[in-house]
Amino acid sequence: MSTTMQVMEFPLFINGQWRPASSGETFDVVNPATGAVVAKVAKATKQDAEEAIRVARETFDSGVWSRKKPQERAQVLVQFAQKIVEHAQDLVFLESVSSGGTIRRIGNSDILQIADLLQQTAKFAMEYSYVQSLPVVSFPASNNNQIWREPIGVVAAITAWNFPMILAMWKLAPALAMGNTIIVKPASNTPLSTLKLAELAVQAGLPAGVFNVIAGPGASVGETLVTHPQVDKVAFTGSTEVGRRIMQLASGTVKRVTLELGGKSPSIVLPDADLELAVPGILFGVFLHSGQICESGTRVLVHDSIYDEVVSRLAEAAKSIRLGNPLDPATGMGPVVSKQQLDTVLGYIEAGIQEGARLVCGGNRAVGAGLDNGYFVEPTIFADVTNDMKIAKEEIFGPVLSVIRYSTVEEAIQIANDTIYGLASGVWTSDANKALQIARELKAGTVWINDWHMFRSDAPFGGYKQSGFGRELGRHALDEYTQVKHVHLSMTSEIEQRPWLNILFN
Ligand code: NAD
Repeated sequence: MSTTMQVMEFPLFINGQWRPASSGETFDVVNPATGAVVAKVAKATKQDAEEAIRVARETFDSGVWSRKKPQERAQVLVQFAQKIVEHAQDLVFLESVSSGGTIRRIGNSDILQIADLLQQTAKFAMEYSYVQSLPVVSFPASNNNQIWREPIGVVAAITAWNFPMILAMWKLAPALAMGNTIIVKPASNTPLSTLKLAELAVQAGLPAGVFNVIAGPGASVGETLVTHPQVDKVAFTGSTEVGRRIMQLASGTVKRVTLELGGKSPSIVLPDADLELAVPGILFGVFLHSGQICESGTRVLVHDSIYDEVVSRLAEAAKSIRLGNPLDPATGMGPVVSKQQLDTVLGYIEAGIQEGARLVCGGNRAVGAGLDNGYFVEPTIFADVTNDMKIAKEEIFGPVLSVIRYSTVEEAIQIANDTIYGLASGVWTSDANKALQIARELKAGTVWINDWHMFRSDAPFGGYKQSGFGRELGRHALDEYTQVKHVHLSMTSEIEQRPWLNILFN
């Protein structure tokens, strides 16, 4: 791999080695801030996917990783975290020029999050209850019974383009900690940082073949992983539409599946909210990474009594968000990921106007001042949105906020929950008790009170409803990468003590 050339080149990473695609083909990775090709990446074929599966299977079965002591695995995870910190600058660059994320965010947050997750997971792995002894009971007989937690085997991780490193690490850290082997298929817009992570993991002491990366089309490479009988689990982050297909395909071989899917997350602003906190908080919740976050707070429900004031303060504050090249530390908001995504987002803005929502801010492709060749969208706010409008129902995955009016808390809760999604939700209020009462009513996997986007390595994240199932982060995530075995050791050596045999024999 070379990162110094103008156009970088990345092969596949299988069995601890770089290798070209079996077809010799590559695909282009484009910088969404400039429209320029930044890398050529080996385009994996079905055969490459099968080879990665074979390697991951053999490596798992060999026990070189799966039978290591938890302490030894934990040590490698900590060393991996150190390698990430040492190579942070490279990783931030690769992530930024492919995903369009700002270096201000990736450098100050994403890198810290993935290093912290590895360290926390190492700690959890050492404390984990791999063997649980059951008490001796008289019925059906006095025996020794244990419950073991074992790795699942070969994991296929398929990730989206918005947070390539974080989404890969949410799967990698628990999968590796529990002794599985893994094949990651990153999204085709953003494979660079994931490939680099695989190289760093081997340098950190991870045995070859434990962590493999193949970049390529979802329809061929992705589906090979999801249908192959030698893959034991699929961990997927992406759209609800593809998630449904993956669930169907995985059923052919009855694989375990965890799905982290789309969202349309609501926040409720109560009349007593501190608007000095709520206004920047709401904008942070929706415009970070140009709104391309699954849990972005895209619907904000505001009480009648403060509605006009909140709308005008949001529109005013949005003006201070600076768009620009994500490699510039002064940039607060970068582009959306691709021309296709730009067109999708502009299409939704048009739909909002057509449906009668009131545009109070933005609404256009952002141009001028070095933005012309990139895929930039102005921070966009619609007021007078009703929850049946397309912009309130569908995930836009762009910098578009819908502000909805309500008059009673019951109505706000009803609107908040009136969605097929259930990833995140929030409340802005000065009354903590009230907020906790509302939190109980919200059907979502995360509730942020007077905050947004606050992840912790020890707090589980995942969806209610069609936002998916399974949990990433925290101790819960370790369970998702193990299977449960009950071991019964009979202590009744005399046949007379086995009365159940009489059920069959005379
Ligand atoms: P996507 O569903 O189009 O693609 C996700 C991944 O699946 C990519 O790697 C893609 O190549 C692969 N894929 C596509 N078709 C496939 C198939 N038939 N079989 C196997 N793999 C296939 O999603 P995207 O556009 O990359 O990402 C945006 C979506 O991801 C949004 O809906 C967003 O909400 C969601 N997302 C969810 C979370 C979460 O944690 N819940 C986080 C980030 C993004």
